[in-house]
Order: sequence, then C-alpha cells, then structure tokens
Amino acid sequence: MPTAISELTTMRLGGPAREFAVATTSDELVSLVRGADASGTPVLLIGGGSNLVVGDQGFDGLVVKVETSGVGIGGSSLTAAAGERWDSIVAASVDDGLAGLEALSGIPGLTGATPVQNVGAYGTVTSDVLESLTVYDRETGETSRWTPDQCGFGLHRQSVFKHSTRYVILDTTFSLRRSRSSDPVRYAGLADRLGVAVGDTVPAADVREAVLDLRAQKGMVLDASDHDTWSVGSFFLNPVLTKVPSSASRAPQYPDPSGIKIHAAWLIQNAGFAHGYGTEFGNGTVSLSTKHVLAITNRGGASTADVMALASHIRDGVAAEFGITLVPECDLVGCALT
Ligand SMILES: Cc1cc2nc3c(=O)[nH]c(=O)nc-3n(C[C@H](O)[C@H](O)[C@H](O)COP(=O)(O)OP(=O)(O)OC[C@H]3O[C@@H](n4cnc5c(N)ncnc54)[C@H](O)[C@@H]3O)c2cc1C
Repeated sequence: MPTAISELTTMRLGGPAREFAVATTSDELVSLVRGADASGTPVLLIGGGSNLVVGDQGFDGLVVKVETSGVGIGGSSLTAAAGERWDSIVAASVDDGLAGLEALSGIPGLTGATPVQNVGAYGTVTSDVLESLTVYDRETGETSRWTPDQCGFGLHRQSVFKHSTRYVILDTTFSLRRSRSSDPVRYAGLADRLGVAVGDTVPAADVREAVLDLRAQKGMVLDASDHDTWSVGSFFLNPVLTKVPSSASRAPQYPDPSGIKIHAAWLIQNAGFAHGYGTEFGNGTVSLSTKHVLAITNRGGASTADVMALASHIRDGVAAEFGITLVPECDLVGCALT
C-alpha cells in the first residue's frame, strides 16, 4: 500500500503519510474521517491529487484516498460518487446525450473535488450545473444534502470547501439538459477552434473534442510521458483587482463581480518569465511548463522545496514588475511560498 504522497499527486510531490487508508464507499469514507477525528488524528483527503502540493516531510496524520464509485443518470440529472474520475463523468454525460458539462472536458481529478474550487474552464463553472451534493460536516458529525446556494460560490475559484478541512463531499448531482447540442459556446478561443461565433451551439461531442485538443496543446490534459503535465494546472489564481496599477495597464482586463480580472499568465510572461523558465531551480528538476507559463512543473526528481522556491521567485518577479502579488490557486499542505 503506498504511503508516499508523491505517488498520489500529479506533481509527484509529497513525503510519507503517517497513516494511509483507501475509502471505497461513502460510509467507509465517513467512518474513516469520523474515527480519525475522534482520536484527534489530522486528516488529509486526496482525490486525484491534481490541485495539491504536499511538503517533503509528508503528512503527520491519516491520508484518505477517495476511491468511492457509482454513477446514476435519471432524466436530465446525473449523480456521481466523489471518487468517480471527473473526465469519465463528462464523457458519460456527452455519450448519454446530456449537455452542460462538455466545456469541462479533460480537467484532471475526481468528481468530489470539482465543487471545492468551483472548477471551471472555457466559460463554464461547476456551479452552473450543480444541483445538489451530499456533505459530511466534521464539526457537527452530520451528513446532509446541500444546494449550491450553501456552497459559497461566487468569487473566482472559491467556495466554503476551499482551504477548509471541515467538509467531506460524498457525491454530487448535476442538472443537465437532454440534448446532443452543446450549451452556447462562451469562450472566444473555443468558438474560433470550432469555426463558430460565441453564443452558437454545436454538437456537444464536438465541444468535448475541441476542448480536449486545446487543453492538450497547453499541457492541460494529464499525460504521464509529458512532464509539462506534472503540475497542478494553473499554479496561481488570476488576480481580481479593484484598481489596475498603471504598470499593468497594457494587460487585457476582464470585468468580474468583485473587480477587474487580469490573467496571471499575462503578468508572468510580461514580467520576463518565458515558457520553460526556471531550470536553474532544483538543478533542472523544476521549471515553468514549456507550453503554459501558469503551470509550474516537475521535470523529474523535484522536491516540494524546489517548487516553492521557483513559485516564490515568480511571485516576487511579478510583484516587482507590476506591484501585484500572485496567490497560489492550488492547496498547499505542509509547505508554503517563502
Ligand atoms: C494538468 C492540469 C489541468 C488543470 N486544469 C484545470 C482547469 O481547467 N480548471 C480548474 O478549475 N482546475 C484545473 N486543474 C486543477 C484540478 O484538476 C482541479 O482543481 C480538480 O478538481 C482537483 O481534483 P482532485 O480530485 O485532483 O483534487 P485533489 O488535488 O485530490 O484535492 C484538492 C483539494 O480538495 C480536497 N478534496 C478532495 N476530495 C475531496 C472531497 N471529496 N471532499 C472534500 N474535499 C476534498 C483535498 O483535500 C484538497 O484540499 C488542473 C490540474 C492539472 C494537473
């Protein structure tokens, strides 16, 4: 049984777990967490490990790998256990003639983690289609059915689950549309790739194929043979600012409910960090992806300390150039930027 957390994360980072268990049913998942809580043992839940960076010293507690399974489709609703692979759920929905998830194709990780940072891509976010979820609350010991308005979605990549260890998501239900046609295409780059205008609809299967293709070009689909995908995807959040500093006035700006959003990738690139930058960190074991500057990657043999050093250097370079401090999007456990 693996105890090296590096075997459970897409960055292949993280030292040993003091204790390790696999949960294959929701009852088992709750009982493992409940038992650890009763004995005062810290718990780290791991799904696909694709948004998680764990320190080199490992985790001094119980690591629970979520491997619960079960998918049910009824009418236009799809319910999936937390341990179901996210992209398999998207594929199953498209195959079954359900529209709504197609733009979220190819995102790594498991279904139970998608509400955690309200996963999104190509103009769709999880909360657009989430109908309900079953949540175990470690503070009250209760399991209950939640509606999306209880989840604190709204801000970019935020929810009550993000950076909190209080809740365990057991399953999620999505309210989809019974149709072979996609939702309106919302993202200009995707519309271009499909040869349609923003707002048009096309077969949902075509959107899925186009998204997988676009993502693969950026190293955003997992491929064990491609070190550009040994990442957590976007390492930093896109900053949302109340006022854009004059130094960053050239950056494309996007309206956001809480201010003006600027792409972190633009800031990184324009602060002088190119694709593949950073090979001097960790003797070549880490660098920015050669396909996307927002991904920090393990080129093989990296330590978490190496990644933290490069990430801190990038954050500092952007701050020096633009006066904007980038913040990690991924969860850091037992490690921090310096
Ligand atoms: C190549 C690549 C591309 C990516 N592209 C995108 C993208 O386009 N859009 C996007 O939003 N994200 C993207 N990500 C980030 C990541 O895939 C998502 O955040 C994904 O939802 C994480 O799922 P996971 O199962 O891997 O979570 P993990 O990394 O295992 O866990 C993430 C956090 O959620 C917690 N958690 C896990 N399961 C549960 C549960 N059942 N209940 C409560 N908490 C839980 C963990 O404890 C941890 O704190 C990408 C990552 C990679 C590597």
